Amino acid sequence: MTYIIDGKKIASEIRNEIKNQAQSLLDRGIIPTLAVILVGDNRASRSYVNSKHKACLENKINSVKIELAENISEENLLQEIEKLNNDNSVHGILVQLPLPKHINSEKILEAITIEKDVDGFNPINVGKLTLGTAELIPCTPLGIMSLIESVEENIEGKNALVIGRSNIVGKPVASLLLQKNATVTIAHSKTKNLSELIARADIIVSCVGIAHFLTDEYNYKNTATVIDVGNNYKDDKLVGDVDFEKVKEKVKHISPVPGGVGPMTITMLMYNTILAQKVQNNK
Ligand code: NAP
Repeated sequence: MTYIIDGKKIASEIRNEIKNQAQSLLDRGIIPTLAVILVGDNRASRSYVNSKHKACLENKINSVKIELAENISEENLLQEIEKLNNDNSVHGILVQLPLPKHINSEKILEAITIEKDVDGFNPINVGKLTLGTAELIPCTPLGIMSLIESVEENIEGKNALVIGRSNIVGKPVASLLLQKNATVTIAHSKTKNLSELIARADIIVSCVGIAHFLTDEYNYKNTATVIDVGNNYKDDKLVGDVDFEKVKEKVKHISPVPGGVGPMTITMLMYNTILAQKVQNNK
């Protein structure tokens, strides 16, 4: 029988642990604090920032929202980040993407000090992730690994297929799976033999961004674990990359959308905020 990986439940267990750790910091007079910068008034970005803010407050993490005008100059934004870098009461800094076109996002991400880079997107942290020495790992990939590890006792030697090679999901997930000694294949839009790769995969992470991209027409191992990262809309309904109802009949473990990777991402942001505090104070 197929096991549905319950991201909400796993996220809630991790949140309880985060809340306990936040409380023990508070007891020692340390207020774990995340600063989130929102530039402009993009509706989706505002909604993501509000969800992060709410989750932090629910889990005893102080959240500071910094709202800046759409037409802020790159230089002024860099100055805001520098202020937060130097503020000892702030442990994590996140700049909500995308930024307005006149701002160079790479330059902004590089400006966040690596010990406060809770999104893990500073190029130094990206490099450390590849080396296997990163302390702060991007939130969605970290959440995906928790979901996989909740059902796969031993990843070592397993064939893992990551479909998608973005810098924010595909590549970091592939690095993390490799660190766990999986044999990792990364597929992308130019991959020619996807069905063969799917047929031999023990673990499939789909981060493509196309509704119902993985159908039941592929042959899956009946022992496979499938993690669906996709956040897509079909007929106004949130769906993943996987045709869940059909594919679930063919594999052993599968994560749904909604209720799979989604709840893990903000949870891991809070996890990283607590971790960032430790990294800064153990320096
Ligand atoms: P992205 O930057 O658009 O990357 C998509 C990847 O899919 C690319 O590497 C692309 O290949 C590959 N691809 C496209 N068509 C393909 C095909 N026919 N066969 C194989 N590979 C194909 O997207 P992303 O930012 O990684 O996000 C992926 C999905 O995850 C989106 O739905 C996004 O909303 C979702 N997401 C969810 C969360 C969450 O918290 N739940 C977080 C982040 C992202 P090329 O490189 O060759 O173009």
